Amino acid sequence: MPRTLITGGAGFLGSHLCDRFIAEGHEVVCMDNFITGSPDNVAHLVGHERFDLVRHDVSNYVYVAGDLDYILHFASPASPIDYLKLPIQTLKVGALGTHNLLGLAKAKGARFLLASTSEVYGDPEVHPQQETYWGNVNPVGFRGVYDEAKRFAEAITMAYHRYHGVETRIVRIFNTYGPRMRLDDGRALPAFMGQALRGEPITVFGDGSQTRSFQYVDDLMEGIYRLLMSDETEPVNIGNPDELSIKAFAEEVVALTGSSSTITYQPLPADDPQVRQPDITKAREVLGWSPQVDRAEGLRRTLDYFREAVAEQATA
Ligand code: NAD
Ligand code: UDP
Repeated sequence: MPRTLITGGAGFLGSHLCDRFIAEGHEVVCMDNFITGSPDNVAHLVGHERFDLVRHDVSNYVYVAGDLDYILHFASPASPIDYLKLPIQTLKVGALGTHNLLGLAKAKGARFLLASTSEVYGDPEVHPQQETYWGNVNPVGFRGVYDEAKRFAEAITMAYHRYHGVETRIVRIFNTYGPRMRLDDGRALPAFMGQALRGEPITVFGDGSQTRSFQYVDDLMEGIYRLLMSDETEPVNIGNPDELSIKAFAEEVVALTGSSSTITYQPLPADDPQVRQPDITKAREVLGWSPQVDRAEGLRRTLDYFREAVAEQATA
């Protein structure tokens, strides 16, 4: 039975990974310090004979007893408001955390997968973004704490691969949404869903002409699983290329929820990328992967979760 360590396993994406690897028959060790995640996200797995939940900050030395076959490093604040609030922790988990987990992978002979991000492309001057693009990041800007941490994480991952022969994989994840996102994590979808369901104004930053390309979480899980099991050691984009403006996205959420909310415009955060769209040619060719859930369907699947979250918040 394969044994898999998932760091950040109590977060949005990590908890879906725990579900996926349990379903694949793995023994799963979920490690998290709950800084932006919650044990609630994996409460349904606690007590499962193949699931262990360990509270630990992976920026400190990581000890795991026994064998490990796979390590998926997802621990890191991920939402802009989280990493702007937690700049040092974000830099540490991307740098020291990644170093610790690569050391663990080397010691255990485990395959290591890094959760990287479309943010390594920064505010891109090439559109759509291919893996060969080196990016346009302001190292001393506010977002630099996240972008540069992930760029360092990619660099040290490749160094462990080339110098120590560790088996490594790097997934560059584009904006992903689905159940278990924190209602107040500040990302566009939770913010818009919460506001629409409460009948509050929808806060669009800037004039809303900046674009993003949103993928449903199940598509990402499939892409990650295929990448992990493949031989590809160079970074691979996983995202849904269906791009739209943030204003259009806000209007879609209002229409979906049947809300009477209107849009209010607020200042654009510093260094907010103007465009973003993955080129997924490589994922198609190397992994045979492409997104299966379009935005209309993905948003419908997510709506019930946000309805419940808003209702819970109202009674709390
Ligand atoms: P999240 O905040 O829901 O999950 C991150 C988890 O990591 C949380 O449970 C948090 O408590 C944990 N964590 C943070 N620092 C830690 C530390 N030092 N030690 C142990 N645990 C720690 O965010 P998410 O959206 O699930 O993102 C997960 C990963 O995917 C991150 O690495 C993020 O950079 C990457 N990613 C996500 C997206 C996206 O759209 N969701 C896009 C690109 C990359
Ligand atoms: N955004 C917005 N209103 C919000 C939250 C986000 O207009 O309440 C914008 C944000 O400025 C960005 C886009 O939506 O242009 C996506 O933001 P998110 O935080 O979801 O992801 P990221 O910027 O990391 O792609």
